[in-house]
Amino acid sequence: MERLQGIAVSPGIAIGEALILGNEGFRIPRRFLPRDAVEEELERLHGAFAAAVAEVERNRKQVAEQLGDEYAAIFSAHLQMLRDRRLHEEIEEMIRTRHYSPEYSVSRALRRYAKVFQSLQGEYMAERANDIFDIEKRILRNLLGASREELSQVTSPVLVLAHNLTPSETANLNPKFALGLVTEIGGPGSHTAIVAEGLGIPAVVGVGLFLTDVSGGDTVIIDGDQGQIVLRPDEETVAHYRHEVEEQRSLAVKLETLRELPAETTDGVVIQLLGNIEFPHEVEQCQQRGAKGIGLYRTEFLYLGCDDDPTEESHYEAYALVAQAMGDKPVIMRTLDLGADKMRSLPDPEDERNPFLGLRSIRLALRNRDLFRIQLRAILRASTLGDIRIMFPLVSTIMEFRQAKMVLADAMEDLEEAGIAFDREIKVGMMVEVPSAVIMMDRFVEEVDFFSIGTNDLIQYCLAVDRSNKDVANLYTAADPAVIRMIDMAVSIAKKSNVPIGMCGQMSGNPMYTMLLIGIGLRSFSITPAAIPEVKRVCRSVSVEQCEGIAKHVRRLESAQQIKTFLKEELTKVFPEFPL
Ligand code: PEP
Ligand code: MG
Repeated sequence: MERLQGIAVSPGIAIGEALILGNEGFRIPRRFLPRDAVEEELERLHGAFAAAVAEVERNRKQVAEQLGDEYAAIFSAHLQMLRDRRLHEEIEEMIRTRHYSPEYSVSRALRRYAKVFQSLQGEYMAERANDIFDIEKRILRNLLGASREELSQVTSPVLVLAHNLTPSETANLNPKFALGLVTEIGGPGSHTAIVAEGLGIPAVVGVGLFLTDVSGGDTVIIDGDQGQIVLRPDEETVAHYRHEVEEQRSLAVKLETLRELPAETTDGVVIQLLGNIEFPHEVEQCQQRGAKGIGLYRTEFLYLGCDDDPTEESHYEAYALVAQAMGDKPVIMRTLDLGADKMRSLPDPEDERNPFLGLRSIRLALRNRDLFRIQLRAILRASTLGDIRIMFPLVSTIMEFRQAKMVLADAMEDLEEAGIAFDREIKVGMMVEVPSAVIMMDRFVEEVDFFSIGTNDLIQYCLAVDRSNKDVANLYTAADPAVIRMIDMAVSIAKKSNVPIGMCGQMSGNPMYTMLLIGIGLRSFSITPAAIPEVKRVCRSVSVEQCEGIAKHVRRLESAQQIKTFLKEELTKVFPEFPL
C-alpha cells in the first residue's frame, strides 16, 4: 500500500481499478487468471515477446541501413532487455504463482525496472526509463492486439490515472465509467480540474511522478476531499473509505430535500444560485440541483471538442438547446475564452512563453473578428428563445470592452439587414478577473450591464501564480487577504453604482467561503451544479448580519492560513457534517 499527496480539486471518494493513460490508452483487462489458464497464458506471453523482438529487429535493420549502426544501437538495447532471462523469469513467476494476467505481470515488472532508472538522477537515466516504457507498450500492444481500448471507449468502471489530460480530454470522459481522475501535473485552478468537478467525479492533480508505481488493474482509492490517493490499499483502508463513501451518500440524500427550497438566509435575504456549464447537456444537472439559471456557460468548449471551427449553425444549435431548456431563467453566455490551457491539444511550450499572459480569451477574439462575429450572431439569434445575456472574458482595459461591443454591434447590424430577430436590449457584461479591471471598476460601471467575478483567474493574476502549476499551488488560494480585498473593492464599487455583480469562479462554489462572500455583499453565485446543495445549506443556516461579522473579522487577518482556519471553524458551526 502506498499513500500519495496531491492537490484536491474535485470532492468525493472513488475506489476502483486503475486505467493508466499515456500507455496509448491501454487497458489491462483483468488482473487474475483462472488456475487452469496458466500454461495457455504463458504461451500468449511468449508469443507477444517473440513478436516484439521481431518488430525491434525490423526497426533496427531499417535504421541501420538508412542512418548507420550507431543510430540502430538504441534498438540493440531494447532487444537486450526483451531477451533478458531475469525479466522473463520474473514475469513468468508472477503468472505461475500469483496467477496474474500476462498484461498485468509485464506492466508490473517493467514499471519496477523503470522506477529504478527514474530514481537515478540524470537525463541519461531518465531516457532509459522511457526506453522501458517503450518496451512495455510494445509488449502490451502485442498482448492486447485488437482488444486495446481507447479512453472514450472504456465500458467498465475505472479510475483514470494520467501524466496530464487536456480539458477537452477530460470533458470526453464518461462519468458512468470514469469514476475518478488523478494526474501527475496540473494545479488547483487548471481547467482540467474544473471540468472534473463539473463531471462530478473525485479528482486529485499535481501528485508528482507516480505512474511507475502503479499498474493498470491495480486497486486505487482517490480521496478528492483530502487530495490523497492510495495505491493497492489494504483491507482496513478500503473499509475505512467505504464507510466515508456511505456517509457522503447519506449527506447527499439529506441535501436533496433542499432542492425546491430557496437559498434564503435566516433573515430572509435570497441568494441567487446559478450553475456553471461547459456543454448544453449539463443543463440537466443544473435543473436537478435546483439552479436558478446559468451564470457561466463556457462556450469555448464547443471549439475544444472538434478539429474544425464550429459553424454559426453549430453554435446556434448548442445555445438554443440551453436557452430552451432554461425557459425564462437567465443564461449568461460567456464568449470564447480560448488560449492558455484551453487549447485543442496540449500547448507547445515554444509557442507562447507565458500563455496565461498571452493571446487568450477576449484578446484572441478581437484578433479573429470573423470567428468572434460568428459566435455573437449565433448568441443573438438564440436571444429570442430565453433570457440570454452576453459576457466578455478577461477584459483588462476599457478599450477592450468597447471594441468587443463594437463587434457585437456589427453582428447586430448583420442580423438586422438579414431581417433576423434578436433581443435588441440584450444585457452585456464582463468578467472581473484581471486586477486592472478591479482598479478601473469605477469607469467600467458606466459601460457594463453586469459583472461576474472570475476568481480562478483573479487569484492567479493578483498573486502572480500560475493556476495550473502544481509547484506553486500552495500560493494559489482564494483565502489570500489580497484576493479578498480585490473582491471587496469590486463589490463595493459595483454596488455603489447599482450595477449587478456576482461571482462565477470556483471560490463561489466552496461552502467555506459562502458566509464571507455574503458578508462582503455578494448575492449571486454561479457554481458547479454538484455544489449547489451544499452552498444552499450554508445560505439557509446563517443571517446576513452573522456573515457581515465574519467578513469584518476576516478583513483584520493577514494570512491565507489564518483566514482558512477561521472560515473552517465558522463553517463547522453551521454545517458540522461538511467534510473539511
Ligand atoms: C474564472 O477565471 O474564475 C472563470 C470563471 O473562468 P475560467 O475558469 O474559465 O477561466
Ligand atoms: Mg477566467
